[in-house]
Amino acid sequence: MFDCHVHSSFSGDSEMPAQTACERAIELKLEGLAFTDHLDYDYPNYSSLFDIDFDVYSEYMDRLKNAYSNKLKVLKGIEVGVQPHVIDKSLKIIEDYNFDFVILSVHIIDRQDPYYKEYFIGKTKQQAFGRYLELINSTMKEFKNFDVLGHIGYVRRYCGYDDSTLRYCEYSDILDEILKNVINLGRGIEVNTSGYRGGLGSPIPDIDIIKRYRELGGEIICLGSDSHFAEHIADGFGQAKQLLLDTGFKYTAHFENRNPIFDLI
Ligand SMILES: [Zn+2]
Ligand SMILES: [Zn+2]
Repeated sequence: MFDCHVHSSFSGDSEMPAQTACERAIELKLEGLAFTDHLDYDYPNYSSLFDIDFDVYSEYMDRLKNAYSNKLKVLKGIEVGVQPHVIDKSLKIIEDYNFDFVILSVHIIDRQDPYYKEYFIGKTKQQAFGRYLELINSTMKEFKNFDVLGHIGYVRRYCGYDDSTLRYCEYSDILDEILKNVINLGRGIEVNTSGYRGGLGSPIPDIDIIKRYRELGGEIICLGSDSHFAEHIADGFGQAKQLLLDTGFKYTAHFENRNPIFDLI
């Protein structure tokens, strides 16, 4: 099993040494893990918080790969958080470095991160969630060099609504467009298990969206914990795997050198 979404101290919001994550993964008997450190150019108020020196990152990850080669498959990934005005600059990084794996995420909506409650002020749930999905949809039309779309439903993680579910049926048109685009591009989606530990009672995206992805012909699914701490690595994977089996998936995928490799669940 692979954890395809792990942050290390290269991310502005994690202090976990990458080596500590590797040791934890070995303890858990994982086959491998993908480091997907944050690149979010021009993050509001802290413009360089999520910038990385990719020369250093790339070389470090290559060394780690070699050091663990007979114990754990270490994959050099990146989670690119994209805003419309940084698309070209972000794409350039993907082209310049030989990543194994690229997650495309939308974290910032109209210069606000829905991690903070200010984003929700003056918006109905429909508006807050709808605008987020619109932005994913338009971003994907320009940013095509990715492997999986990260945590569809990030907007609900910290929204604080009594009912924070992002239901497929309430946003079916835009979600269909997003999912069909993913499939037509030959890309995949991730099932992000941080939703379980965040008390959402489901992974991100919600199960009905995962079901719809399958109905539309989607096959590439990566499982990621979005860990920023060692104790969260592969967290909730038992539950998520059962949910995927119940939905009819037999395989998850991880990426090596940007190619999907399928793993029996
Ligand atoms: Zn993210
Ligand atoms: Zn992440």
